Amino acid sequence: MNTKEAYETFRAIYEKIYACQHALELLYTDGVTAAPAGSADGRGKTSGILSQLEYELHTSADMKEAVACLIQNQDELTDLQRREIIEYNRRNEFIASIPADEYVEYRMLINKAEAVWRRAKPADDFAAFAPYLEKIFAAARRFALYYRPNDDPYDTLLDMYERGLTQAQADVFFGSLREKIVPLLRRVMASPEFDDSFMYRNCPIEAQRRLSDYLLDTIGVDREYCSIAETEHPFTTRFNKRDVRVTTHYYENNFASSMYSVIHEGGHALYELGSGDEYEYTCLAGGISMGIHESQSRLFENMIGRSREYIELIFPKLRELFPEQLADVGPREVWLAVNKSRPSLIRTEADELTYPLHIMVRYELEREIIAGRLSVYDLPAAWAEKYREYLGIDVPDNTRGVLQDSHWSGGMIGYFPSYALGSAYAAQIMAAMRRELDVSGLIRAGRIKEMVAWLTRKIYRHGCMYDPAVLLESCCGEPFNPDYYTDYLEEKYNLIIAELGGR
Ligand SMILES: [Zn+2]
Repeated sequence: MNTKEAYETFRAIYEKIYACQHALELLYTDGVTAAPAGSADGRGKTSGILSQLEYELHTSADMKEAVACLIQNQDELTDLQRREIIEYNRRNEFIASIPADEYVEYRMLINKAEAVWRRAKPADDFAAFAPYLEKIFAAARRFALYYRPNDDPYDTLLDMYERGLTQAQADVFFGSLREKIVPLLRRVMASPEFDDSFMYRNCPIEAQRRLSDYLLDTIGVDREYCSIAETEHPFTTRFNKRDVRVTTHYYENNFASSMYSVIHEGGHALYELGSGDEYEYTCLAGGISMGIHESQSRLFENMIGRSREYIELIFPKLRELFPEQLADVGPREVWLAVNKSRPSLIRTEADELTYPLHIMVRYELEREIIAGRLSVYDLPAAWAEKYREYLGIDVPDNTRGVLQDSHWSGGMIGYFPSYALGSAYAAQIMAAMRRELDVSGLIRAGRIKEMVAWLTRKIYRHGCMYDPAVLLESCCGEPFNPDYYTDYLEEKYNLIIAELGGR
């Protein structure tokens, strides 16, 4: 096989892999949105067959030969082709490094662990889950060492979710959060508490659905290629750049919940919709990493969506849709309400200021367990201690403590930091955008599409062509610097403390 033939073979097989993935994703999306509740069996059978087909395509002799040939003759490829083959290989080499029987055993462990966690969480039964969690952490450590025998296993795990991220960098990042956010939160707590009870008045779901359409419109999501559905947990999925789906969940007595889900998922959708045409149906299409993806959702959710200018922009629409519910308040009150910060136990319900502290707890605990300095059996005590220290609250049980997230039961060790990094990337990207655009003026004038055009040029159109650190540096003109994030939070919450008459 010569290089040209190898590339053609690789492309032909990859398009079949893509078709399997498209169908699998579509089945999943249908299952959580429109499909009737009792229909899982048929989808399960089809999914099993498609997954098997996908696996056979990845591991076929033709594919292996083509990839080996292309890796060897990289200098005969264009930049795009070279990146494509490296990306493809990188995504598969981790699993390929694990002995097959161990991987099968691991999949069974995860299946069992997820079921055990599902029962243990509501029952506050950490003891039932702990032996499984211990095995999961041990497997994560072992697999990291199979993949990169000479590296620190937690560095390898971090790198799998946010390429290039190391503990040394994460320590600096979380260290600066600890130093600046923990005291800032104490000052917020010491200032007068804002009464946001008006946000929990009953708002009909039909009006909330109209609000979702309006919000996606304000941030420039092209609805020709992006639809919205309702699920228990909001998410975004993409089949290709002309078919992106976002979901939300409506609560009659909390319209802000869905409002910010929609803006958050809208940010993810914009990233996918803006991916370059030349990458379509290749493994370079769409977002490069968890962290960069989360930077886009949080830039729209928090930095635009919770800005005073944005609330002023959308307030007339809110008043139109919820005339009685918002009769006695104005944009200032809504702005203060959506930025209210109070420590809480549950990560997914945390506000913008306390959210990174929840992540910091998980990061520090994961790191200690993988390093062998903390036993899984001592997790609940260590968890409670860190919540007391960083958030100033007592953890009453494991249901609202160490058992709250599904990630560890699914084997996702090293994933959490990318959530907090996303917010930090977003602050730095926003600062770079402010140097070139009148961001406040554009939001106030409802011209957010001009910001989307800037983001498309700097980030979206590049798909997976560049590693996260390279992309961020080319966008911002300097390497990652977490000070932008802590500065942003300090400036924002100082303004709020002053508005509330605190100090
Ligand atoms: Zn997200």
